[in-house]
Amino acid sequence: MDDAELLRHSAHIFLPEMGIEGVLRLTRARVLIVGLGGLGSGVALYLARAGVGALALADPDTVGLSNLPRQILYGDRHVGLPKTDAAHETLTALGATGLRLIPERLQGAVLAAEVAQADLVCDASDNFATRFAVNEACIRAAIPLVSAAVIRMTGQLLVVHPKEPAAGCYRCLYPEGGDDAESCSERGVLGPVAGAIAALQAAEAIKVLAGIPTPLTQDLWVFDDKTLEGRRIRRRRDPDCPLCKTLP
Ligand SMILES: [Zn+2]
Repeated sequence: MDDAELLRHSAHIFLPEMGIEGVLRLTRARVLIVGLGGLGSGVALYLARAGVGALALADPDTVGLSNLPRQILYGDRHVGLPKTDAAHETLTALGATGLRLIPERLQGAVLAAEVAQADLVCDASDNFATRFAVNEACIRAAIPLVSAAVIRMTGQLLVVHPKEPAAGCYRCLYPEGGDDAESCSERGVLGPVAGAIAALQAAEAIKVLAGIPTPLTQDLWVFDDKTLEGRRIRRRRDPDCPLCKTLP
């Protein structure tokens, strides 16, 4: 790291939990972000600014006008463009390098290959089919997964870590999946709540990459902005989970 890099990251370097070693770990890290909506926008911005060495950005969609109140990677000039291209423009203007764009819905062998190349995956998608597929790919490749979701004025966050098999996986929490019929645009979401959850998702990713312990490798955290109450709930591996059953 040169003097400018040391100055840029000094606030992280001065954190006793992080130090120069933690910041160096971030600079060497490869992170896959699945979904560049309200969550993925905030995660990508914070991880790029934290100096994460390589970000792979996956999203099949284009920017829509109704995305703009919460998807803070984009502005009016990006409406109609692929989200990956718009994200690349914004992040490059902030000095980010090491970006790789995946303008498609990740699934099957392509998803497995992308996960296997990453040190950590952030699931910032908006549907159960993608969350299940990303969870399965992470479990099979033993790659840590930071999973977040947000709807209306609530959010949740968890870390599925290969070193905590007793806490189970995303599928253990939601064996039946859920209703994907309505998107955020239809059910509503408060923009800053998406931003708050995204910022904490980025913080969890940084903690895992830098080796800072987090209770979310064992717990699910849920947050309700109406009451400003957050709650941690202990997760347990579901003995009937078809995925975890295959693990030793
Ligand atoms: Zn499981």
